Amino acid sequence: MRQILVAGNWKMNLLGAAGSSLATALAAKYPISAVEILVCPPAPYLVSVHARTSGSAVRVGGQNLYFAPQGAFTGEVCGDMLKDVGCSSVLIGHSERRQFFGETDDLLAKKVVAGLQHGLQVVLCVGELLSERQSDQTEAVLKRQLSGLAQVSAEQMANVVIAYEPVWAIGTGVTASTEQAQQAHAFLRSELKTLYGEQVSAATRILYGGSVKADNALELLSQSDVDGALVGGASLKADSFISIIEAGIQAMSLRA
Ligand code: PEP
Repeated sequence: MRQILVAGNWKMNLLGAAGSSLATALAAKYPISAVEILVCPPAPYLVSVHARTSGSAVRVGGQNLYFAPQGAFTGEVCGDMLKDVGCSSVLIGHSERRQFFGETDDLLAKKVVAGLQHGLQVVLCVGELLSERQSDQTEAVLKRQLSGLAQVSAEQMANVVIAYEPVWAIGTGVTASTEQAQQAHAFLRSELKTLYGEQVSAATRILYGGSVKADNALELLSQSDVDGALVGGASLKADSFISIIEAGIQAMSLRA
């Protein structure tokens, strides 16, 4: 049975004190947990958030990395550094990275490899634009974006999570319907089957992201191919993020 993963992407939000108190609240609430919990703070706060969550069920991840192992890449952070400050995971290919920073599938494929080589769990984000959905391109776009896995072996897939995030649902308050989410997730799983076979496809977690909130989380997480949530806005406050984690725990118990 796939364990539900609830991940919070803080993006470029929360200064040190606010992030620390959020991390402290989450760690206090979840010394242990039936679902995996991940928070991805801005890079300057990885150390302090890790210090506040260590020993709890809350893991810490980076929002991005650069694929080179070290060197003259001003402003960038490599996988080794994320590991060194206590990260277990990294988000790769968030739509904001693709949209605002020009990240291409080829670049992302290199980042995926780098993350895995450094022992990080890689959360590869995929998702179509509204115009692509409206012109019936959703599946073609998702298939193309899965090329981020081009250099990933079946064995390495144990450390890969896919996050389906329709761009039109991110930060907009518009959530994909449960049918739209399930349909896209089922498509992604069938593509994973083509790429890696039944076993890997059945074992890989596919998260949904896009305006997940306390009041829609349980319905989304109850879909058979939705194995967790990648949460932006609602992960910035302890009460809303905890409600989503609790929905994950409930969905997990319904799966058992
Ligand atoms: C995200 O940033 O990955 C996201 C899904 O944001 P939001 O939950 O705010 O839509």
